[in-house]
Amino acid sequence: MGALNVVWRKCGKPNCACAQPGHRGHGPQYNLTRRIDGKTVNVHLKPGPELAKAEREVARHQRFAALVEEVTAVSDGLHLTYTPAGIVLDRLTQVQRTILAHLDIPLPWPEKPA
Ligand SMILES: [Zn+2]
Repeated sequence: MGALNVVWRKCGKPNCACAQPGHRGHGPQYNLTRRIDGKTVNVHLKPGPELAKAEREVARHQRFAALVEEVTAVSDGLHLTYTPAGIVLDRLTQVQRTILAHLDIPLPWPEKPA
């Protein structure tokens, strides 16, 4: 996955409009930066189907990363108690309960009775 950046560039021609002070340069130009086999690869995208696809992919990746973060936060926040009858989970917080239900993840151990 990568990052999609919008940039404005100066072309460097001394008599171009972009050489005027305060001109932000030519653009918007869209760059998709990705790491492929350990190398950073920059792809220049023109507005159109390819750019729209890249925007969707970046958005999807961001949602996925946010989900992973939520699941990690919930897992890290689970506390176990070892009882003679086996492991029980300490009471979940409302946030943990909501996230687990939302992601349809069953509890790995029974919850301690209230
Ligand atoms: Zn220019």
